[in-house]
Amino acid sequence: MLAEGAVRQVLVADGHCSPDEASRVGPHLVSLCRHYGQHPFTPLEDVRRELRLDSAAFGRLLDLFRRLPALREAVVTGPSGKYWANTLLPLERAGALDAVLDGKPRYPHILGLYPGPTCMFRCHFCVRVTGARYEASALEEGNARLASVIDEMPTGNPYALYVSGGLEPLTNPGLGELVARAARRGFRMTLYTNSYALTDATLRRQPGLWEFHAIRTSLYGLDDAEYETTTGKKQAFQRVRANLLHFQRRRAAERMPVRLGLNYIVLPGRAHRLLDLLDFVAELDAAAPGRPLDFLNLREDYSGRPDGRIAPAERAELRDALAAFEAKAAEVTPALEVDYGYALHALKSGLDAELPRIRPETMRLGAHPQVAAQIDLLGDVYLYREAGFPGLAGAERYVAGRVGPDTSLRQVVEGFVTRGEQVVPVAGDEYFMDGFDQVIAARLNQMEADIAAGWGDERGFLR
Ligand code: SF4
Repeated sequence: MLAEGAVRQVLVADGHCSPDEASRVGPHLVSLCRHYGQHPFTPLEDVRRELRLDSAAFGRLLDLFRRLPALREAVVTGPSGKYWANTLLPLERAGALDAVLDGKPRYPHILGLYPGPTCMFRCHFCVRVTGARYEASALEEGNARLASVIDEMPTGNPYALYVSGGLEPLTNPGLGELVARAARRGFRMTLYTNSYALTDATLRRQPGLWEFHAIRTSLYGLDDAEYETTTGKKQAFQRVRANLLHFQRRRAAERMPVRLGLNYIVLPGRAHRLLDLLDFVAELDAAAPGRPLDFLNLREDYSGRPDGRIAPAERAELRDALAAFEAKAAEVTPALEVDYGYALHALKSGLDAELPRIRPETMRLGAHPQVAAQIDLLGDVYLYREAGFPGLAGAERYVAGRVGPDTSLRQVVEGFVTRGEQVVPVAGDEYFMDGFDQVIAARLNQMEADIAAGWGDERGFLR
């Protein structure tokens, strides 16, 4: 974090203000950096009031902030800097957030393809409706719809498409062909999967699967008992483990460029398993000398925590476990890229992360399809990431429209936006939003509040 003295010095040395003014604004600039490095979603007026400045003085402060790139850097590398660097600023650059506020239709900046007709697991935290699935007869037509969307998407952003669910994508036997199709158009798609079906037979039947840019396996435990507790499936860990070991060997032997990684949610009471997780990664590395696992995303489980906070004892345990994890990772899996996510990254820095908590009353009536949308096998375009499950009560209200032989994705989004369609949220609807949706809604609400308060030119603080 920047020191006040250094800020004052630069302000004067670079001729931005007099020594007197520098003494007055220096502490405020440091407070501003500290605040937005930690709480990215605060409306400007709230910070202005906190600093007890009138509008003119606050406007001057924002002007000086913009002149010092080091201040911006301090915000982006702050404890909550990942929100800025990974999510908000790229969307600002793409103009996707402005499109939402201006009510202008455009293709979703990120589109999730949800091709899975079913799932073999029944994870206790999953919102999917037990037994609900897409009919096998829907596959052919559904895949044709997804293919048409792949052909339709603009190619400017190679990361615009990803494959997830909804249900488990690898239960769709036509997935490989869709991946190859997308790769031919230059899309570098990531697959989010449980890897239970990532068998040798699947890979042989669907060689297109090798054309994924990355495969991210959600790991639900480190032995069969943990898997069964979480997914309800017996002996699932051994199968996923065998699939990943085999994938590792073939990927290395055939020099396939696809990246391979894991997503591991630290469930309450399982922080001590982080060291065992590294042993598992090391086992996968050993299966393919010279081609270690590429990445690991660690996440904290916030479900069932109404205020979004972890209890102090658990925080301390988790922080200690993360420190031990980091030390061991540097030793046994040095090539592994570890992404701690927003919450764990902040916790590692000794702070409580501010996770946006969107409620029905703060959900946006028109959602944000210009930023992100999801499409399932029926061609239904969902506004939120956790809504795309068959039979999920109330989720149909969050379908913007259906892509079909006579209706393109562009027409669906354009129709929804230009008609000004709105979904009035009811209690519980916030669970249709995942963490990303919540971040986007929080950002858009913040930007709107700034504009309404007369800070249009400065809205959102950084852009
Ligand atoms: S979380 Fe994923 S793997 Fe688990 S039941 Fe839901 S869809 Fe299946």
